[in-house]
Amino acid sequence: MISRNENLCPLCGGEKREGKTTFTVDYQDTVIVIRDVPATVCAMCGHEWIADEVAGGLEAIVNDAKKKKPSVEITRYRKVA
Ligand SMILES: [Zn+2]
Repeated sequence: MISRNENLCPLCGGEKREGKTTFTVDYQDTVIVIRDVPATVCAMCGHEWIADEVAGGLEAIVNDAKKKKPSVEITRYRKVA
């Protein structure tokens, strides 16, 4: 039987702790920053894990932010035949 300690970082063996992180999305001309995202953070190497349900929430927030993105179109006057 394989025993696996869920509280230890698989990368460095450090202790994983509940914490918060900042999620940043660089999308075309828009940068979306989401703060206070619940995450599990390794105390040793700082690697972060975001739970599936949190990731789903982030996706919704990002999609909503993309909709609010100001759209600027630069075009020239031209005659349409
Ligand atoms: Zn670690």
